[in-house]
Amino acid sequence: MKATLMELIKDRLTIEEACEMAGIQLGKGRGNTRTARCPLHDDASPSFIIYLDSNRWRCFSGCGHGDAIDLLSRVYDIPISQTLHRIANDLGITTSEQQESDRQKQRIEKQRQERQKAQADKEFESAVTKAVHFLKSLSDELDKPIRACTTPWQVEKYADYIHLTAKIERILDDLVSGERQIRENGLLAARRVLFIVKEARGKQRDIDKTKTA
Ligand SMILES: [Zn+2]
Repeated sequence: MKATLMELIKDRLTIEEACEMAGIQLGKGRGNTRTARCPLHDDASPSFIIYLDSNRWRCFSGCGHGDAIDLLSRVYDIPISQTLHRIANDLGITTSEQQESDRQKQRIEKQRQERQKAQADKEFESAVTKAVHFLKSLSDELDKPIRACTTPWQVEKYADYIHLTAKIERILDDLVSGERQIRENGLLAARRVLFIVKEARGKQRDIDKTKTA
């Protein structure tokens, strides 16, 4: 797991450096503390203190307390996320680790998208194969009574069949023609035909039922 920008900065930015970046004049202080005029309010006497060991600050006049990043966010008056980028810039943190982390996230996302696309392609091809199979067998079925006709007026009865067969031929052409968009449209058309045929067969079954009843 790569470090976040926040973690990188917390590792490297001391409270003293933060004060320097914020233009805070530090007094001498004692031990691990330094005092200064608070940058967050109009401070006549030093009520601002930093703790060198914990890298934190506090204002005794009510401005609160926090770490180096909080301090710069408040002095600059910008959100933490912007502050992090500004600090990284100012400190010359190359953020190569951060960039590497971003690149890795992008790689993972790209792989995920590729897998998703491969899966979608697979499903599409499978749907096309089924549609082609269905349309071919339907076309054969429609063709049978037409071929059995011996006179032109018999064929005339099957005008709808002939019309549908021609339509099926066009859809089959589209499905195997190669261009993705055309094939997708072909698949939609095939599904409409399947729907119509199912409806028609359902009606036919109902008619057959009433006949046998
Ligand atoms: Zn203050």
